[in-house]
This record gives sequence, C-alpha cells and structure tokens, in this order.
Amino acid sequence: MTITEQYLKNIQKEYWFEFKKAEEDFKKEMKASQNKSGKDGASHYTGNGYGVISARLASTRNYLMAIDESIKRMENGNYGICKGCKREIPIKRLQIIPHTQFCVKCCNIIEKQ
Ligand SMILES: [Zn+2]
Repeated sequence: MTITEQYLKNIQKEYWFEFKKAEEDFKKEMKASQNKSGKDGASHYTGNGYGVISARLASTRNYLMAIDESIKRMENGNYGICKGCKREIPIKRLQIIPHTQFCVKCCNIIEKQ
C-alpha cells in the first residue's frame, strides 16, 4: 500500500470530525465547570473530564496540523523524506504513522533531547 494524497485527506477528514466532537465536549465541560463555580467566582469544579477533554482537543489539533503538513509535503514532493537525515522513511513506518516527518533513528534522537 502506498500513501497517497487522497489517503492523507481521508485521515484528515476523520480527524477533523474528531476535533469537532472534542470541541463540542470541551464547550459542554466548560459550561459544567462554570455552573459549579463558587460565589467568589473561582471555579471549584473538580471533575476530571476537563483535563481529559482539553488534552484530547490539543492532541487532535496537533494531529490535524501534522496531517496538513504532510499533505503540503506531498504536494511539494518531499513527503516520506526524513527531516533529520534527508533519507527516505520506510513505507512500513509511514503506514503506521502517516504524518511522521522523521525516521525511527532521528525520532529517537529528538525524543532524547
Ligand atoms: Zn532520519
């Protein structure tokens, strides 16, 4: 299986949907936290949904941005080329993480920094 622009766009569509859902949940949670605020105006909301949802929202947004970047890279013809060592990223890795911009080696180096 090769990774095509259409394939990336399909992933983007799915994640866009996920992002919208997360955004909705985030708004709901915000409202819930406001309703539970004390008289002093400070939020005493202790539900753990807020942190979970904001993390979900952030990670979905990051993923969307990464996919978007991948589509641009595909248009420029440098998709699948590692940003670190400029070598081709193995197709097997791209199939698992289509938005990756680094090979395993470079990814490990970055993570250690
Ligand atoms: Zn590399």
